Amino acid sequence: MTSGLSPAAISSRKARMDAVRGRMSALGVDALLLSLGADLPWLTGYEAMPLERLTVLVLTVDGHAVLIVPELEAPRVPDAGDLFELSPWSELEDPVAIACGVLGPHLRGRVGISDRAWATSLLAFQSRMGDASWLPASKVTSQLRALKDSTEIACLRAASASADRVARALQAGDVELLGRSESEVSGDISARLIGEGHERVNFAIVGSGPNGASPHHDAGSRVIGRGDVVVCDFGGVFALPGDVGYCSDITRVVAVGEPSDPDVLKCYEILRLAQQAGVDAVASGASAESVDVAARRVIDDAGFGDRFIHRTGHGIGIEEHEDPYIVKGNETVLEAGHCFSVEPGIYLSGRFGLRLEDIVAVTDSGVESLNTADHSIAILEV
Ligand code: ZN
Ligand code: ZN
Ligand code: ZN
Repeated sequence: MTSGLSPAAISSRKARMDAVRGRMSALGVDALLLSLGADLPWLTGYEAMPLERLTVLVLTVDGHAVLIVPELEAPRVPDAGDLFELSPWSELEDPVAIACGVLGPHLRGRVGISDRAWATSLLAFQSRMGDASWLPASKVTSQLRALKDSTEIACLRAASASADRVARALQAGDVELLGRSESEVSGDISARLIGEGHERVNFAIVGSGPNGASPHHDAGSRVIGRGDVVVCDFGGVFALPGDVGYCSDITRVVAVGEPSDPDVLKCYEILRLAQQAGVDAVASGASAESVDVAARRVIDDAGFGDRFIHRTGHGIGIEEHEDPYIVKGNETVLEAGHCFSVEPGIYLSGRFGLRLEDIVAVTDSGVESLNTADHSIAILEV
């Protein structure tokens, strides 16, 4: 994070705080206590460290926005104009008492607390606020956070472009695979993400041969051999100047020479068509689940329905996985600004796995794929 938020970052946050307060009044919520998690940087530009010391933004429906931080963390809080009031607490003070002072009459109200706040923080508040009723802050924030504004889409676009450059290097054979372990390759991918401008790597899954059939395989000691198919799924956090970072997440498949399993190319073509069908189903007004249905139908029709063992996608933003989830049962109506992955997979236990993942943004006129790296399976010459 830089020392100050850009004017655009501050003005978009003012709009977000207004929207949050609007939803608080609609839901009858008196105050939010925002601690660990993505709501805090989304509203203030400041991400709390996961320390035992309490950091909390007290946001009341009637206008207070006070960020209570340990004094030693205060220098890390970006300058954000008059967006919120900063209240550092010293080692001998009680931050919960300070927060209760800000809450005032709302101590007995309906209060939302960050989904990812420590249980110890919630328990400390509950012991002082016996008459309050509680809800997860996500009930207020997650629908709003799922709809990205133009500054957020610009950052997601830049994050995806950075991940695409790493994907293209893999597809071009610039990352050595043959004879190297999955963990070495995972390290190379991570270093390239940083080299391409990411500030942090969240994960770099490298699943080779039969390991690809485990969707979240931890890159390990298996040495990649001739004929192996390798699933590479990686992403991290990318920031534009003057704002917090947003996540990237992409999956591409490379084969080290002609795939040794005769079904790889046939299955990959089914997968490619399924991913395309998912993206083609994305439109303002369509439901989240209809995107899952469209992608899944192609794999079902080809007889591999029971080998596609996860949802089709997840929203992405400050968090790697957030609303909207692209899954059967989610009737959320997609709107311009929703950003999520479309990532069907086919997993054949003991043989190989395949997945193809792009991040897309819903637009007024349809859909924009933020990832543009080639969709083919890359067959490397060895
Ligand atoms: Zn995942
Ligand atoms: Zn992924
Ligand atoms: Zn993903």
